Amino acid sequence: MTKNDQRLRKMLETERRELLDAISHYEVLARQKKPGLGNHMADDGTEAFDQAASLALHRNEQILLSQVEAALTRMDKGEYGACERCGNEIDFDRLVAVPYAELCIRCQLYVEEAPRGNGTKR
Ligand SMILES: [Zn+2]
Repeated sequence: MTKNDQRLRKMLETERRELLDAISHYEVLARQKKPGLGNHMADDGTEAFDQAASLALHRNEQILLSQVEAALTRMDKGEYGACERCGNEIDFDRLVAVPYAELCIRCQLYVEEAPRGNGTKR
């Protein structure tokens, strides 16, 4: 394992720990919050909004966590850093920015720009 790999693994492990912390924090909050206990209508509305916002955040973090864990699994298998689509190596700079990236920058752009359904013609 190279020094760069070690650095990326450390980043991924830190990220995973933070995500797990954040997710368990939400779960504690969700259990503590009981709907309908607010005294004022306005408070209820705000709380419902807060809950929706933190739920959305919660879901993002779970998606992120699964990506981070998939990256760590790829690392264990020695497949880390290769683009899932074209098999080329993903730039180290990109991995530092997005350690759980599954695609090289070219494929990422292609996937993002490709119209949904068929990706052949634009
Ligand atoms: Zn690629």
